[in-house]
Amino acid sequence: MAGNRPRIGVLALQGDVREHEQVLSSLGADVLRVRRAEDLALVDALVIPGGESSVIDKLSRLFGLQQPIRDAIADGMPMLGTCAGLIMLADTVVDAIDGQESFGGLDVVVRRNAFGRQVESFEAELDVPALGPVPVRAAFIRGPVVESVGAGATVMAALEDGRVVAASQGNLIGLSFHPEITGETRFHEQLLALAAERAATTL
Ligand code: GLN
Repeated sequence: MAGNRPRIGVLALQGDVREHEQVLSSLGADVLRVRRAEDLALVDALVIPGGESSVIDKLSRLFGLQQPIRDAIADGMPMLGTCAGLIMLADTVVDAIDGQESFGGLDVVVRRNAFGRQVESFEAELDVPALGPVPVRAAFIRGPVVESVGAGATVMAALEDGRVVAASQGNLIGLSFHPEITGETRFHEQLLALAAERAATTL
């Protein structure tokens, strides 16, 4: 923590890093791009953006970040993963490319590209009880679906047909969609609250 402002990292290997930075800055967070283990050591929480999970996976190993991020997850660092970021947080990934790995931590099985191709992108209003009565406007862009939720994880939101699109576990939040491009800030606010809570208990 720098003063009272939580310092939030955005994993900046690939994907929509800037959109997350803008949301976090608008909420008053001190934002840092995380590209190396040294950067990770400076942040109170981490956003894993949307993009292409197989690329984020490869680059995280190339940059020596996979193990430090796994260690941070085990240590309780709050993290918010959107779309490809959810895939990176999932314990099990279906329809991954050969050799693709995730960081893990969320006890869920996700299926990549479960909603079809880019042209089949859509927006939906989602009920997210943990965020209160106002629904979330969610943008789905070749997102994953949560196919099963293990005992350790909690469902945060599902589509009307019952498919799970948001789950949490401890300090981890994983979303199939992109709140950062529809003006939805409440998930990032939650991440900031988790970071503040953790800083207060670890001081
Ligand atoms: N299809 C991408 C993947 O598998 C995720 C898409 C996204 O993050 N918008 O990583």
